[in-house]
Amino acid sequence: MSDSNSARRVLVTGGSRGIGRAVALELAAAGMSVAINYRSRSDEAEAVQAAIETAGGQASLLPFDVSDRAAAAAALAADVEANGPFWAVVLSAGVTADAPLAQMDGEAWDRVISTNLGGFYNVLHPLVMPMVRLRDGGRIVALSSVAGCVGIAGQTNYGASKAGLIGAVRALAKELAKRKITVNAVAPGFIATDMLEGLERKELAAQVPMRRVGEPEEVAGLVGYLCSDRAGYLTGQTVVLDGGMT
Ligand code: NDP
Repeated sequence: MSDSNSARRVLVTGGSRGIGRAVALELAAAGMSVAINYRSRSDEAEAVQAAIETAGGQASLLPFDVSDRAAAAAALAADVEANGPFWAVVLSAGVTADAPLAQMDGEAWDRVISTNLGGFYNVLHPLVMPMVRLRDGGRIVALSSVAGCVGIAGQTNYGASKAGLIGAVRALAKELAKRKITVNAVAPGFIATDMLEGLERKELAAQVPMRRVGEPEEVAGLVGYLCSDRAGYLTGQTVVLDGGMT
């Protein structure tokens, strides 16, 4: 555990399940105080909080819908006012709504874009200036996807949102570099979470040179590194973690 982390707060959006859950556990084990954001499943979020506290770490719950700009701004401003700025933000909240474009309704397009890409603005806009004012550097990591790097049929909405994040990360990294705040994206391939529900794991594994899907903890290990003091010169990048798929 890094001593410097003991005073550091991190927000993990979508921290209640899947990759976000593993990231919350990883960063809590590294000594950070973790705010777990989620939208609806408070049982899952409370279980993550309990696991962190049982292990001797610090965690709090911060529910809001990342696609709701006003709700995100209100919840984050109140939290920063009460508890201080975040040193790190990991954007893991994300959704899919797959369909071929010709059959995709506008609601499915809007929901995926406003959650996955809109969440970047809605969450970071209220947090960047408080982070800058900390004068201690900082870390921002967005969960993109291989779907944002290569085309996947049925995912025009999801692919657009994840490619958009890569562009947003590149630009924000340049804005914040002089403040010693790094901004990166992680682009996983298939990772064993609820998001793969309904998909045949063996068929997915057959598309991966490693012949298996990845584990959330493997993504969390990379995010943990990007959020560490050792990663202070790595910014504006997208790190792909996909078992050799792309
Ligand atoms: P899960 O479906 O397992 O978990 C999604 C998490 O996001 C939950 O905590 C959920 O909370 C939260 N969430 C969803 N919508 C919102 C919202 N509007 N506001 C706040 N929280 C929300 O997803 P994964 O862990 O698999 O995915 C995490 C990220 O990684 C996503 O951005 C995803 O696109 C990306 N990714 C995942 C891959 C995979 O194969 N699993 C591959 C590549 C990228 P609640 O339960 O309360 O709704």
